[in-house]
Amino acid sequence: MLGVVIPCHNEQEVLPQLLSVLEELPALCQAAVKVLFVDDGSRDRSFEIISEACHRNPMFGCLRLSRNFGHQIAVRAGLHHVRGDAVGVIDADLQDPLSALVEMFQKWREGYDVVYGVRQNRKESFILKASYALFYRLLKKVAQIEIPLDAGDFSVMDRRVVDLLKSLPEQAPFIRGLRSWVGFRQIGVPYDRAGRAAGESKYSVWRLIELAIQGFVSFSTVPLRLAVWLGLITSGFGFALAVWALVAALAYRQTPPGWASLAVIFLFFGGIQLIMLGILGEYIGRIFDQVKNRPLFIVDRSVGWMAADTESSLSNVVDAEEPYSERGVEAAASRVA
Ligand code: UDP
Ligand code: MG
Repeated sequence: MLGVVIPCHNEQEVLPQLLSVLEELPALCQAAVKVLFVDDGSRDRSFEIISEACHRNPMFGCLRLSRNFGHQIAVRAGLHHVRGDAVGVIDADLQDPLSALVEMFQKWREGYDVVYGVRQNRKESFILKASYALFYRLLKKVAQIEIPLDAGDFSVMDRRVVDLLKSLPEQAPFIRGLRSWVGFRQIGVPYDRAGRAAGESKYSVWRLIELAIQGFVSFSTVPLRLAVWLGLITSGFGFALAVWALVAALAYRQTPPGWASLAVIFLFFGGIQLIMLGILGEYIGRIFDQVKNRPLFIVDRSVGWMAADTESSLSNVVDAEEPYSERGVEAAASRVA
């Protein structure tokens, strides 16, 4: 059986079209398919539309999170509960073609553990495309692991990879990075990324920047080392300046003039210090998040095949060891629709 995880946040415009193409998936893959929608706190009719589909067709199930937790956590929640020997992850907006997903499942059958989509073309604005390209190339440079270029979350993973991802306790998962990190046999499948079929992007520029920072910070400590290099360069520069000032004063009996140059230097170093403090803050903030050890997400209710699963296990909070049940999080959050 194959599983598919689809994170959804306010996708009512595109859902009808998505549901109808998904219904063809079992025939295309020649296998039983179970789709798990993760309704990431939608405020529109998305949940109603999905629930209705769940009652109509047993291949659909849905997990509704208690609020908007963000795309990465929605995917993570889906991976936690999805079934299937192989699991596909695909966005709701049909930007990633279903034909590519079918091809990925085929590659999995050939023995690959992770098959990820590699975007060939994007139908997005020039600035966005340029930023994406820059981000992936920069990340490749500084990341301590090999992360493939231009690969997003669109992928198919073997059950053991999914189980491994589930066992990782990261509070802020950067799925595409973790997926590379686990290793095994991986392969990319090139595809053209279409524009959205309907609706608007749910990622604001700010959230994209946050995702980019997340990528860097969770897979690299190079930014931390930046401080050392900047410090070395600037102190070298300061030393040279001191020598020059000394020579000027002793040999030419001249004191170098100017508070302007001083002001510039103060501002420059002040800026560098603040930037480095900010970078430290990014890491420390994540350490803080991690030690608080809150559940990654909270499930509000489940529908379709997911409802039966939830009833039997009653585990609706992500954590390998499930220490949260003692704190009553599950009790508060377990309501089965
Ligand atoms: N999404 C989500 N939670 C969010 C934002 C987005 O579950 O907080 C879903 C969204 O419904 C879509 C996918 O994540 O299925 C990717 O979002 P989007 O298409 O808006 O991002 P883009 O493709 O523009 O990067
Ligand atoms: Mg999209």
